[in-house]
Amino acid sequence: MIQIKTEAEIALMRKAGVLVGETLELLRGAVAPGVSTAELDALAEEHIRKGGGVPSFLGYHGFTGTICASVNDEIVHGIPGPRVLAQGDVISLDCGAIVDGWHGDAAITVPVGDVPAEVTELMRVCEESMWRGFTAARIGGRVSDISHAVESYIRSQGDYGIVEEYGGHGIGTEMHQEPHVLNYGRPGRGPKLQRGLALAVEPMVTLRSPATRLLPDNWTVVTADGASAAHFEHTFTLTEKGPWVLTALDGGAAKLSELAATTSS
Ligand code: MG
Ligand code: MG
Repeated sequence: MIQIKTEAEIALMRKAGVLVGETLELLRGAVAPGVSTAELDALAEEHIRKGGGVPSFLGYHGFTGTICASVNDEIVHGIPGPRVLAQGDVISLDCGAIVDGWHGDAAITVPVGDVPAEVTELMRVCEESMWRGFTAARIGGRVSDISHAVESYIRSQGDYGIVEEYGGHGIGTEMHQEPHVLNYGRPGRGPKLQRGLALAVEPMVTLRSPATRLLPDNWTVVTADGASAAHFEHTFTLTEKGPWVLTALDGGAAKLSELAATTSS
């Protein structure tokens, strides 16, 4: 079922979104060689609870973390634990929180010290594709307009893998709702984009093949070829003025105006 939220409900989702956005910025600052993923997880849980939220991943189908911490060839759903970050790693941090019953969900990929230039570029392409998805979204458009924009941008930047088995989703009083938001596909398909719809858009991009494998822990998704992966995610909604990125601290204003200036000229 697609859940259409009132303006007041979207305002509540913004509270959850800001808490998630703050938590990820806190983690970004804490990522360093020698830090364990369990330490990052503890920081996230403390921050979410202090902010009046509840970690939404913790206990979700038995998941044991507040965050997903996916390192290097791990794409998504890595379980926080004793693994210690090393110089040259990249880590994807996915975080969700519930405030007053409403969810926010976002993810960033962060370098640990210096990483190879091709990995820096992989992260840039992945994050940028997500923003291209937001700018393709219009009230009255279709969900796959976003998918198409994400894919088109990634394909325009090189021979990257776009993970197909996982994607974005509707979000509201549950973390995962209809509709599914693919990171590839033809535009003009799927449910209509309308006010009150909130979607998490989350491209997962790999350096080479998009093929994935599930580790025996039954959570961690890795690249089948062992190459690095990146994952970015924001929760957004549409207003009369355009996208409002609920998990971005500035609502997406800076990046969206930059894109509006560069893509219209
Ligand atoms: Mg997420
Ligand atoms: Mg998500």
